[in-house]
Amino acid sequence: MESCKHPRVRVLTREEDAEFVECLECGEVFDSHEFTDMAIEEKSLKNAEQSDE
Ligand SMILES: [Zn+2]
Repeated sequence: MESCKHPRVRVLTREEDAEFVECLECGEVFDSHEFTDMAIEEKSLKNAEQSDE
């Protein structure tokens, strides 16, 4: 299985202390807190947020 860096994600649900996001590339759903940990090194989260509308 390829390792996906989840360059583009969308928020599925947002709760008090949990936020679930879905990767638009691989379709994986995960806690955004985990994603933040992954994204810090890649610094890709800001890029994703600035994606074109
Ligand atoms: Zn992914």
